[in-house]
Amino acid sequence: MFTCARCNNTCNDGAKCSDCNQFLDFPCSGITEAGYRRLGDRQKTWRCNTCKTAGSSPRAASSSQITEVLNEIRAFRSDFLLMKSDVQETSVGIQALNTKWSEMETRFSDMEDRLIQVEAKLSKSIL
Ligand SMILES: [Zn+2]
Ligand SMILES: [Zn+2]
Repeated sequence: MFTCARCNNTCNDGAKCSDCNQFLDFPCSGITEAGYRRLGDRQKTWRCNTCKTAGSSPRAASSSQITEVLNEIRAFRSDFLLMKSDVQETSVGIQALNTKWSEMETRFSDMEDRLIQVEAKLSKSIL
């Protein structure tokens, strides 16, 4: 029993790729069960379509593919870290803005209070 690497179906029999070591059921492997049986010993060297089309030197290709993916992951990781520090800086900036804003608000309400007092005094002196 194994799970097909392509369709995720559980199947009793299928072909194992000698390159990516993945099991594929016969509908997905591109080879018939009879055809696979006929390979005999060469089953050990059978490769799935993905690996077959990857090039004439699949091992080199797959390892360079892994390096490529690893590089992408690393690039993504550093991008992500950059983004994270950006966000952190931004949130610090927002916090500073908030502090500034509440300071401004306090000042405005102070001014408003004084204005009300002045208005009250003025209206009293007028009356
Ligand atoms: Zn399948
Ligand atoms: Zn393969």
